[in-house]
Amino acid sequence: MISHSPEDLARVLLSRLKIEPPTDLEIVAAAIGLHIQGEPLVNLDGVMSRIPKQAHGIVAVRAGIRGLGRVRFTLAHEIGHYIQQHGAEILCKSSNIETNIYSNHPEEVEANLFASELLIPTEYVSRLLAERSVSIETVKLVAERSKSSLTATVIQCMKVITEPCAAVISVDGKVCFYESSKTWKYVVRVGCGLDKRSVAAGLDLELNKKTGCVPISAWTTIARSGPVSSLEEQSIYLPPYNMTLSLLKPVLA
Ligand SMILES: [Zn+2]
Repeated sequence: MISHSPEDLARVLLSRLKIEPPTDLEIVAAAIGLHIQGEPLVNLDGVMSRIPKQAHGIVAVRAGIRGLGRVRFTLAHEIGHYIQQHGAEILCKSSNIETNIYSNHPEEVEANLFASELLIPTEYVSRLLAERSVSIETVKLVAERSKSSLTATVIQCMKVITEPCAAVISVDGKVCFYESSKTWKYVVRVGCGLDKRSVAAGLDLELNKKTGCVPISAWTTIARSGPVSSLEEQSIYLPPYNMTLSLLKPVLA
């Protein structure tokens, strides 16, 4: 039996439609019989409605979603519900979209995986990262070129990079979640406040980006792992969301 993972479906669509990032979502929607509703929603972030007995549907996103990247991700998420036959009508809250930290409902996870691959294909990320080391600048470059949010992009970057690295998202001074590359071995503490020793804790509107070396215990559950007792931390503070993105890499003593 052929496997149709959410990512496979996105790759097949991009390939059939010969689309390269930044993915034109209007072309994708039109190709599968979806109409993007011009009138925005008020309460929900995204909605997908299937027209009964027809191979058509409507998707809509909320007015006032902050950032083009997040708007595009929400739309791609709703397209994901439609193409994966998730039901006649799906109503999505903000917490269901982009990351799976507040919801692990299988259909929401599948819609997010589809949207990530549709907007920021892993093969495209690999190509861009091939000649660059992972840094916030690199993640920003991928995000800008694919017209995607920094959060969605950093999650995709972690899927393809080979060096040990973790990307941590903190909001309102609290560590929310992280994604790591396959070779990253440590557990990052989440749900707690930023450690005072971290670079992220010292950032504000004036000093919004900095790189430094911090003890590994400032972020993880351990104080040392073999020759590794510290991390290179590159952090950037993003005021519109009161969010900090930190990239962590182990430093060999
Ligand atoms: Zn959803």
